[in-house]
Amino acid sequence: MAGNEEAASKLERTAIHEAAHAVVATMIHRGIVEEVFISDSPVDVAEIYDELNSAVHGLTGGVRFRKIPTTVFENGLISYSGFFAECEHVYRSGGNLEVLLPQLREQASHDIDRYHALLVSEHLTEADIRNVVIDIGSALKHYFDSGVWEAVTIVADALLARGRLAGDEVLELLADFP
Ligand SMILES: [Zn+2]
Repeated sequence: MAGNEEAASKLERTAIHEAAHAVVATMIHRGIVEEVFISDSPVDVAEIYDELNSAVHGLTGGVRFRKIPTTVFENGLISYSGFFAECEHVYRSGGNLEVLLPQLREQASHDIDRYHALLVSEHLTEADIRNVVIDIGSALKHYFDSGVWEAVTIVADALLARGRLAGDEVLELLADFP
């Protein structure tokens, strides 16, 4: 049954990752999330999600955003939120983050590489980029410690139960969320 447990925990991680994108994006612009989904079987993301302007990764989860302009820093908060939420999940469940970090980073490489390319196109140096990413990490940690983590778990649980949430359903779940 170890295989089933592994699949369940992978799905849970995907739910937390996608929920974090949805919650942090909603925190920045209420209503920006059009749809968020997870799946335990591959989805033809390129077919359905070719209009995505951020955060499609793997074939087992994604977020579709409405085209609302965000600043480069806001874009970074949304892009990195999935990766940092997975780190937070490991940290909060007492796992060894240092050991798992390379694997988590690899799984989030789509988000991280896409944002890196955006910063390069804005003519930032590698040193500047490192500082921006450090600032993003500090801001996300602060948000997670100030109620955002609880919101992420609410949306992740709903994703695990329903698989797919429309933007209005995300807003309903986050009704008490500033
Ligand atoms: Zn992601």
